[in-house]
Amino acid sequence: MMCTHSPACPDSSATDCCRAHMVADHSEQGWCQLCNGVILFDDGLYLAPDGHYEPVPLSA
Ligand SMILES: [Zn+2]
Repeated sequence: MMCTHSPACPDSSATDCCRAHMVADHSEQGWCQLCNGVILFDDGLYLAPDGHYEPVPLSA
């Protein structure tokens, strides 16, 4: 999973990682994938590429 955007999107380990561009929209299933490998769920959680869940920062 490589980000090709310019300027580059936040890394998956960054606090603002949920601001990366969406590359796969599965919102009808309740999730979408960002270009940094983060899976964003519509229940307020995201799944990092290393397999752990985090709440989406409200300030994102
Ligand atoms: Zn990107």
